[in-house]
Amino acid sequence: MLFIVTFCAVTICSGARLAVAASLMAGAAKVDITNRNAGPVNDPLYARALVIRSGATTAVLVAVDAVAIGEIGYITNAYLPTVRGKLNDELGIPPEHVLINASHCHGIVCDDVTERTVQAVKAAVEKMVPVTVGAGTGHEDRIMENRRLKLKSGREVDVRHAYSLPPDDAVAEVGPVDPQIGILRLDREDGSPLAVVYNFACHPIQGVPGGANTADMTGFSSKVIEENLGEDVIALFLQGCGGDINPVFYKDVDHPRSAEPLGNMLGLSTLAGVRSIDCREDDRLTVINETLTLPRGDRTDRIAELESKQRQLLQSLRGTTLNLKTFLPLAVKYSLSDEYPSYYSHRYLHDDALGRSDLRHLDAENRRNIEAYMQNIHTMEELTRVQTNLRLLRKHQASLVASGKRTIDVELLGLRVGNFVLVTFPGELTVRIGLNIKKASPHDHTFVAGYTNGYIYYAPTAEQLLNVGGAQEDSDCILAPEWQAIFETKAAEILERL
Ligand SMILES: [Zn+2]
Repeated sequence: MLFIVTFCAVTICSGARLAVAASLMAGAAKVDITNRNAGPVNDPLYARALVIRSGATTAVLVAVDAVAIGEIGYITNAYLPTVRGKLNDELGIPPEHVLINASHCHGIVCDDVTERTVQAVKAAVEKMVPVTVGAGTGHEDRIMENRRLKLKSGREVDVRHAYSLPPDDAVAEVGPVDPQIGILRLDREDGSPLAVVYNFACHPIQGVPGGANTADMTGFSSKVIEENLGEDVIALFLQGCGGDINPVFYKDVDHPRSAEPLGNMLGLSTLAGVRSIDCREDDRLTVINETLTLPRGDRTDRIAELESKQRQLLQSLRGTTLNLKTFLPLAVKYSLSDEYPSYYSHRYLHDDALGRSDLRHLDAENRRNIEAYMQNIHTMEELTRVQTNLRLLRKHQASLVASGKRTIDVELLGLRVGNFVLVTFPGELTVRIGLNIKKASPHDHTFVAGYTNGYIYYAPTAEQLLNVGGAQEDSDCILAPEWQAIFETKAAEILERL
């Protein structure tokens, strides 16, 4: 299905009455969607809605503090069609003009999130006023890192809590980040801000000390923007291509991990970008909604390879004289001194003078045993990675078989508001894909939002898919490598038409 709706003020509008309609109208609102029956709450989760109208065209943007729009987490697969159905029935807004993005925070939303989302859109419609608009960018590179580590072996692993990282000396390099914050600013006619839409790529999964329910870093960034720009301003965060981007110090064990300082930095950097934007009268509003068919990956061979690897690792575990209780103090002692780990130096010198080597013999034996025990531990850590990723591969392989199809249909949405241009995808795009699309776009202010209008798990590059079974992005994925070129070509085509 192909829907193209554009509005051209010059050809349609003439006469005084329609002069008002020629300007862009917008309204924004937010509704609390926090689940307050699911334990302590650190900060509220919201559905934030922005409704934009130009002549006969209306577009709705909804930013939801949730992990995904369906498939995983607390928002069901019925959510998107139900919200769209209600907006169509009650407000006459076509379903294909409704964009709903999940921030991908791991907070818990309330059971009636569907009704509350509709309520947010209705409240936004009621507040609609003429607006001026402008696009721009901000810059933030302090709060995130690429979570995929390229190993010297040529394989890649990722930074997760689900398993241990490989030894430091196995890591060769890290992947890119995208420090750009994409911004759409909408001002009222008096120049005061009405809403800010901002797009950035990072998993908002840092959590808060104490572990209470939270909208995470992008909840804090939106709060900073809203509080600084004044009452009634709504800041909608659209998650970008954050598939392989984590908050910094994600595996820190020395400090309570907190999303708040990271979110505050993102919010302040967004505000700097917002302040650099000059809003102008610009009534361009275009929505393109297309369904794209993508090839699914068959992981039969890879699963067999990983199972073989799993058996090989298991069989490589060797008997050791040490156990955890004897290993730990020895490992500390032998890291403190290369030459005299077992006793004071004078005893070693005394042994040397008498021509004895008892302590040095003991040290050599202990070092061998420490090494053997560590080897088993590294094998065990590798097994945790293999088994976690194997479970993901088996899950998606089972769903491939159950679907009876080799393809999956996904919804893409292209949006232009003034000089702000956006393409969306319903999965966890990795950062390289966003960088590629932005670079190839004919428009200055082009941004990409994953996690939108559905959820089909991770969507890594074809190159990252050479590593299937090695990291979450390539294992928690249902796509065949060819998907990337198909999507990037279609995204370029949509951008050309926007
Ligand atoms: Zn994710």
